[in-house]
Amino acid sequence: MQLKRLIAIAVILISTYACKEDNSAEVEYKKEIAEIVEEEKILEFGFNLNNYEVKRDTIKKGDSFGEILERNNIGYPRIYNIAEKAKDSFDIRKLQVGRPYTLLFSKESQNDSIPTPNTFIYQPDQEKYVVINFKDTIHAYTSRKPITYVEKTATGIIQSSISKTLEEKGLSQRLAYKMADDIYAWTIDFRRLQKGDRFKVIYTDKYIDDSIYAGVHNIKAAYFEHNGDSLYAFEFETDSIKGIVDFFNEDAKNLRRAFLKAPVQFSRISSRYNLKRRIAVYGYKVRPHKGTDFAAPRGTPIMATANGTVTESRRRGGNGKYVKIRHNDTYSTQYLHMSKQAVKKGEFVKQGDIIGYVGMTGNTGGPHVCYRFWKNGKQVDPFRQKLPEAKPISDSLKVKYLDYIVPIKQRLDNIFFLEAEPIEVENTITEDPIL
Ligand SMILES: [Zn+2]
Repeated sequence: MQLKRLIAIAVILISTYACKEDNSAEVEYKKEIAEIVEEEKILEFGFNLNNYEVKRDTIKKGDSFGEILERNNIGYPRIYNIAEKAKDSFDIRKLQVGRPYTLLFSKESQNDSIPTPNTFIYQPDQEKYVVINFKDTIHAYTSRKPITYVEKTATGIIQSSISKTLEEKGLSQRLAYKMADDIYAWTIDFRRLQKGDRFKVIYTDKYIDDSIYAGVHNIKAAYFEHNGDSLYAFEFETDSIKGIVDFFNEDAKNLRRAFLKAPVQFSRISSRYNLKRRIAVYGYKVRPHKGTDFAAPRGTPIMATANGTVTESRRRGGNGKYVKIRHNDTYSTQYLHMSKQAVKKGEFVKQGDIIGYVGMTGNTGGPHVCYRFWKNGKQVDPFRQKLPEAKPISDSLKVKYLDYIVPIKQRLDNIFFLEAEPIEVENTITEDPIL
């Protein structure tokens, strides 16, 4: 891109020089070109990389900050000095194998017999970078690459599975996860989609530094036709302080149930709530099981099944390490045998937040989470409860919401399904395909 532009500029330059008829035009051109060249600085990490020799690499096994600098001809007393001065901003022992780093050398130093770098930049993740500058005085700081969000739309018609449809269109599978887990988890069973079901989404892609694709950021609105039902979903922030974002339909009804079905994904129920359970090791005496056990590998994240406040996060006897969450006056949930808790007492958690990890602490024969469901102070079987829908939108917000979604819904409705071939569907679809 940049090269092409420079070539174009060069061509313009040559042609202007060749004619030499209108001098003022030539001066104008030169000015413009100077401006363009000025704009085309290669900016990264807050440096104009044109001014440096740039050496990029990744942290290898056994690498340390000291060794990297030593390889680049910096002596040990200086390395020690740099490490000491930088340590308040970044712990140089935290370099991770596989993460990229960049060394900047001043262009002048390239004339030296032994060129030495003056800046070390480490990227602990895609967005963050740590700069340790030791040109004159030593200083270190952490910064973030600029993020841009690009709004996009997509449509799809299911032939076999949603993953397949997305794959064929070159779309991110994250769209499927988001629709299945975040938006329609309680209204559509994604394992039972039908041929001809179709969807439209307005979503945002995230880019780092304008160029590095960092995945689907969020879905702003979606429309799903399943089994002849039309389901709209609009993302809306209901609590800016707690950062609660929910999906609602066109009538401002929450698409979510108050509780997740399970506190762990991809788990299997190894033991249900059973007041008459008899266990061999206890001589077949009745040992009621007032929880539901979800077997999952050690370290699997455990999620809060609903929004609430952590009332206990501790270790005690047979429960092992556990977390208890109060959701409202009626309901509390408890998660036992964790390897480690991830929340503290008093913390507010949102549905789906990670509150700990599956383990084997307390009385347990294998890694699982014992999920206990409390209703009015009594333990009950969550699978036998008629669980409420998630909190409805407040009356004051409802007006705002209904106003907010008007243009978005219009946009959704104006997106055409792009498939060329008409799909023969046996299920009645309430609307004609938009063509
Ligand atoms: Zn249990």
